[in-house]
Amino acid sequence: MSLKKTDIRLPELLIPAGNPEKLRTAVLYGANAVYVGVEGLSLRSASAEMSLSDLAAGVSEAHAAGVRVYGALNTFARNADLAVARKIIPELIATGIDALIVSDPGLIRLIGQVAPSATLHLSTQANTTNAEAVRFWQDQGVRRIILARELTLKEIGEIASAVPDMELEIFIHGAMCMSYSGRCYLSYHRNRRSANEGDCSQPCRWEYLLTESTRLSDPLILEEDERFSYLLSSKDLCLVEYLPQVAAAGVASVKIEGRMKSSYYVAVVTRAYRQAIDALSAHQGEYCFDPHWGRELKTVSHRGYTTGFAFAEEKTNETSPDLKIIQTHEPAGIVLSFDSDQDRALIEVRNHLVAGEHVELLLPDENIDVDTRRLHDENDNRISEAHPGARILIEVPRRVPQGALLRKAAKK
Ligand code: SF4
Repeated sequence: MSLKKTDIRLPELLIPAGNPEKLRTAVLYGANAVYVGVEGLSLRSASAEMSLSDLAAGVSEAHAAGVRVYGALNTFARNADLAVARKIIPELIATGIDALIVSDPGLIRLIGQVAPSATLHLSTQANTTNAEAVRFWQDQGVRRIILARELTLKEIGEIASAVPDMELEIFIHGAMCMSYSGRCYLSYHRNRRSANEGDCSQPCRWEYLLTESTRLSDPLILEEDERFSYLLSSKDLCLVEYLPQVAAAGVASVKIEGRMKSSYYVAVVTRAYRQAIDALSAHQGEYCFDPHWGRELKTVSHRGYTTGFAFAEEKTNETSPDLKIIQTHEPAGIVLSFDSDQDRALIEVRNHLVAGEHVELLLPDENIDVDTRRLHDENDNRISEAHPGARILIEVPRRVPQGALLRKAAKK
């Protein structure tokens, strides 16, 4: 698709950063902005939240690189949460964070009292699906709305035209839910992990059998096709091929899902979308999708890709023929430092590594092969293998940045 240069409003690339390492990874690989969970008040489990002191350090690092930071407070607060929120919100603002992502009207009112100058982004959990709803939230002081995933690009474009002074953000990549934007109790019922508090264990994607109570060992076969049944397992969203249409819809920001995902996921997905947005910018609106971006996106964990609701409602029920997670590669390590005298990098190992294994180093603009035949521990002793958490020295052909990820083929 081609667009006139004047038609293009390049969207901000917004990346999940569940911890300080992921924030640095997102910055290194090309994010314009990151969103983070805030301890105690986000809609994610504790493993995807940052303490206020980590957040303050992360905000200054990100700002030094020109990257904005948004804090997710998108829990639906209970009465008991309000006192915590009243205390945390001013401390959060003091970190220099650029905006707060909220969904609960009570929290919006409370923020108006304790931090009236805070910039508010409305979470997708608020399920905003039409222009009147956007105007309603605009009246409440909201600066940006993360629209519901269930909208088509046509509907998104209509909303952008109807309310041009509201910033709109949409999801462009990541896991999709079979319920309406995470409003689902299945995970809580199955193992007490609540999707509504951001801790979904995704039981909709498990494999189920239909059995008759007196013949438990003889399940009835519920067969959707020759492979198995995958009635509720949604594919993951991926719109990298359709960036011109996304840009033409008039969105200010495109967001990657996955604060619980690994640094490796953050590196690969950020880099692919950065390169795609830069290509859209550089070629005067003539966008040529590079299949390399698609191949890269298939190296990280996913369940097959779909365009979701972007083009048609009938995509609603698109499920995956690949019930199990597909992932061609896994992280091998992360660069802690580089020694220019010896052209060696100190690596923290992330998956068991054997000398001689094929390992790639992911740089922001290319991949380079790494010779792993001579591995050394951090005391310079020659080793033949290394386990997760170990620090090892590896020769690299040129200077590499701290925080760069290494990967290797995933075990079958
Ligand atoms: S169990 Fe499935 S449908 Fe329910 S919230 Fe989790 S991902 Fe969504």
